[in-house]
Amino acid sequence: MIQFCPQCATRVQQRLFEGKLRPTCPACGYIAFADPKVAATVLLERAGKLLFIRRAIDPGRGRWCFPGGYVDFGEDPLLAAERECREETGLEVVDLELLDVTFDGRVIVITYLGHVAVEAEAQPGDDADFAAWLGPQELPPLAFRTMLRPIELWQKRAQSTGGE
Ligand SMILES: [Zn+2]
Repeated sequence: MIQFCPQCATRVQQRLFEGKLRPTCPACGYIAFADPKVAATVLLERAGKLLFIRRAIDPGRGRWCFPGGYVDFGEDPLLAAERECREETGLEVVDLELLDVTFDGRVIVITYLGHVAVEAEAQPGDDADFAAWLGPQELPPLAFRTMLRPIELWQKRAQSTGGE
């Protein structure tokens, strides 16, 4: 929450605007809108399995998630997804397509489905200590509940295409 107006440095006040309290400048009328947090994540698919990494840091330490992270300001979420895969697994991903958009009450999570560009072993980055390809029958303890629906969508697609 901002304390002072970025335009004129006057102390802001909480005022109602379109039904919500917003930091508002009483001097110049500036209204501060907080932007939502956006994360991009990838279901990396190979031979009917998905790549999971085990988190070495909180939130969700010791639990498993997909490669992903926050989208930087001005960054295309698709490029953020590719970047996070590279940083967290050392893998280059291709063929990214949008699979799902979820909201956990705080973060908007954009989930892509993709494949590795070159056959290689995943090398967990700083945020993770293990990486594993796991099938739908062997799901590990998940770090985030927003992962469930994309997994279901992926399973449905795999069934309808006869499972790749
Ligand atoms: Zn102002």
